[in-house]
Amino acid sequence: MSSSVIGVLAQRLIRRICSRCKVEYEPDARTLEGAGLAHLPKGITLFKGPGCEFCNGIGYKGRIAIHEVLTITEEMRDVIYGEVTTGKLRALAVANNFRDMYFDGIQKALGGITSLEEVQRVTHPG
Ligand SMILES: [Zn+2]
Repeated sequence: MSSSVIGVLAQRLIRRICSRCKVEYEPDARTLEGAGLAHLPKGITLFKGPGCEFCNGIGYKGRIAIHEVLTITEEMRDVIYGEVTTGKLRALAVANNFRDMYFDGIQKALGGITSLEEVQRVTHPG
């Protein structure tokens, strides 16, 4: 990796919930746990689109990007030029407040832009 690299940006497109049929719901404990969100306060709401004429029954209309930015710090540069393990890099990134695409997606799910299912579908392929 060149010393001129200062950061790495990655992004994926997720579908926006249809604005005409969007409904709010309270996810159950099991759903939150499965999504790694068990720490969220009780009573948080998520959103989904049951489907309508406007979105052809799909429940989504349009797309928006979720992204993550990894800023390369001096410390990371040392790791990169030394013995690289992804675990080591990831731990460093998290220590430097790295927020991954899943985190960004969850923010957008909580904000009603997309659904939890869509974030999981796009960030955990297969
Ligand atoms: Zn709709």
